[in-house]
Amino acid sequence: MQQNSFDFLIVGSGLYGCVMAHELAKRGKRCLVLERRAHVGGNVYCEEREGIRIHRYGAHIFHTSDTEVWQYVNGFVTFNNYVNSPVANYMGHLYNLPFNMNTFRELWDIVTPAEARKIIDEQRKEIVGEPKNLEEQAISLVGSDIYEKLIKGYTEKQWGRSCTELPAFIIRRLPVRFTFDNNYFNDRYQGIPEGGYNVLIEKLLDDTKLAGSIEVRTDVDYNASREDFANVAKDIIYTGAIDAYYDYKFGPLAYRGLRFETERFEEENHQGVAVMNYTLRSVPFTRTIEHKHFEFGTQPVTYVTREYPADWKPGEEAYYPVNDAENSALYEKYRALAESEPHVHFGGRLAEYKYYDMDDTIRAALDAVEQFT
Ligand code: UDP
Repeated sequence: MQQNSFDFLIVGSGLYGCVMAHELAKRGKRCLVLERRAHVGGNVYCEEREGIRIHRYGAHIFHTSDTEVWQYVNGFVTFNNYVNSPVANYMGHLYNLPFNMNTFRELWDIVTPAEARKIIDEQRKEIVGEPKNLEEQAISLVGSDIYEKLIKGYTEKQWGRSCTELPAFIIRRLPVRFTFDNNYFNDRYQGIPEGGYNVLIEKLLDDTKLAGSIEVRTDVDYNASREDFANVAKDIIYTGAIDAYYDYKFGPLAYRGLRFETERFEEENHQGVAVMNYTLRSVPFTRTIEHKHFEFGTQPVTYVTREYPADWKPGEEAYYPVNDAENSALYEKYRALAESEPHVHFGGRLAEYKYYDMDDTIRAALDAVEQFT
């Protein structure tokens, strides 16, 4: 490939890479996007079957309180009015999520917020001072009953670690409310793109109205073929795993993997909700996703995916960074190395080893692109 035939080499076509490509091309830059998989879009990619879009790499529900990010994505696609209201299944009993008055009523048969508060206050007494880990944080937020039934088993199978070894921030993602409100998110805006996430990705990568250009190559593993792209661009935007970029020289960072099993059912509506969480430790999957409900589908058939958490080995698809103390320290070593390479910009969930949601990812890319203009 000719030297400097592009301004930017972008490794990875997830949301971070695609927003970067779009924004740089908008500013007149020539971008080459390399994608290891056979398709673009990273983990928001969907696969259509019988008119139902399957979230192939796990359920993605867009939610944000960042008005600029919301306006940005709405510039490419219209969002439907889906509101995530998952149901937890514990030993066949169903409880509304997130933890709210419906959950408290189902558990304790109480009626008023004051009654619920009284029970939780009593149960959280055992935690004194600042919660030191996820277990203490969970009990201090919702008490030991909910912790035992709806959090402990789910969390320990999801992360493959004890709740006492996990950082408290993971559970602070979930709202706790003393109102009868089953909306899983507190964010101002929420929805699923009409036509699916692939449309958002296609539009981000469409350079026809942009001053610069975007060329995309799929099935290219950059880390395995770096020499081929050594001089094609002065600057690199790298969105893959940071430890893989450095050939795991300090050892691999821990990630949590996932395995999906999708089943087709000859019925219109299988579970009545898009997301059902199985909170008992001995049920091997964490949740079942009935994809059609994200888009209010009326097809005569349905597809349901069971999501199994899995141990992860280098080379496999990495889903969640495990931000415990040990791995955070290891990441810092990689980050220090990355800082000494000013022509390579590291961004996104894998490159920054951060539990980013989609809106955080877009926000980070929109902020980062400013340094290149
Ligand atoms: N969680 C839980 N029980 C549930 C749902 C979530 O204990 O029924 C905990 C669990 O530790 C999980 C965290 O809350 O890792 C964050 O959940 P979220 O739904 O935000 O995770 P994601 O959708 O990113 O996998």
